Amino acid sequence: MSFTYVIEHMEEDDETAKAIPPWVELEYAHMRMLAGPAAKIHFTSLSKASRDSLSMVFGSEAGLADASCHQEGVLELLKAQTSLEKVCLLDPKAELALSPEDGDGRFEWFLFGGILGDDPPRDRTSELRVLGFPTRHLGPVQMTTDTALGVTKLVVADKILLDDIPYVNFPTIVFNPKESVEMPFRYIAEGSEPKLPPGMRELLHEDLNKSFEF
Ligand code: SAM
Repeated sequence: MSFTYVIEHMEEDDETAKAIPPWVELEYAHMRMLAGPAAKIHFTSLSKASRDSLSMVFGSEAGLADASCHQEGVLELLKAQTSLEKVCLLDPKAELALSPEDGDGRFEWFLFGGILGDDPPRDRTSELRVLGFPTRHLGPVQMTTDTALGVTKLVVADKILLDDIPYVNFPTIVFNPKESVEMPFRYIAEGSEPKLPPGMRELLHEDLNKSFEF
């Protein structure tokens, strides 16, 4: 069974935006890798500049999920494309944990907040919770959105139990003996390392240097 993932872009993005921020671009590109070639991904509530900059990044490489960028919001897209009861919101405050059975016909669309995350979490997913979709959580620790999508795919498509997926919580990314940064999220583990979007490590290092430029 193939699944569709929707990311409601909720970061600052009005028509004056020049392009999508690099961090978001890397996360969104990583989602296409994690979702896999059988899946589709819709990015909604994007400004024209963001749609243009993402479309330039989104090539048609093999092995990646098909992605499309929309100006309209998630509800407008979903109403036109599917029956709303087939949609599951991934919500850190949901009662029930996501399980493999949720991918056996109950849900076909999985919705995430396109939020870079904050520490401590400010519950911005609540803005989607009010839409009334059924919800599932992915455990007690905040994940990056690409990680949340990757974990969801492993559970509903690959039938791996949530607790059987290896995680790294709050990893410290070490750049050199003098420079490192702690990330306030849960990631899928690759060995003892967090599974980061390609290019993210370099971006974090650049940002670290920028933040010390006076
Ligand atoms: N700080 C935001 C909040 O408190 O709502 C969460 C931002 S998180 C980086 C981005 C999105 O990933 C969330 O809106 C949610 O869809 C998904 N997500 C992240 N961690 C999750 C978890 N533990 N359970 C369910 N969904 C999660």
